[in-house]
Amino acid sequence: MELAREFMNQNKVQSFMPPLVLVVEDNEDNLVLMRYALDAVGCRSICLQDSYSAVVIAKEHQPDLILLDVLLPGLSGIDIVKLLKREPLTYHIPVVAVTALASAEDRERILFAGFDDYLSKPFMIEDFEFMIHQHLDRKLNPHASINSCLE
Ligand code: MN
Repeated sequence: MELAREFMNQNKVQSFMPPLVLVVEDNEDNLVLMRYALDAVGCRSICLQDSYSAVVIAKEHQPDLILLDVLLPGLSGIDIVKLLKREPLTYHIPVVAVTALASAEDRERILFAGFDDYLSKPFMIEDFEFMIHQHLDRKLNPHASINSCLE
């Protein structure tokens, strides 16, 4: 039994792919910070400054989570989330607004546009990590859930 469990865990280690997060943000410092934080929690990331390629990249790479700035040159985050939620290949992917637009009205407008969640900038790194765990917890801890199934 102990051996069987070991074997299953090893198989799982080999097939486990860290979750992929697509980040769209025009500010390079913010982008670097988010890439670093995602790396620290064990995610892979695709970082984009170009709003026009966001939907195409999301369709092509099927990320587990999308983090979208709202104020972007070109398409806004609101435009992008509407396109993502209308597209059969991407409508199921959770999209989080990461934005400096922080008033209650902004927040309501953002969630109404189709975002699944909201994080205001500047954020504490702990809040960022909490949000990532809320959306990707099971994908980040595959071994923990396997062990609890067996026990
Ligand atoms: Mn911006």
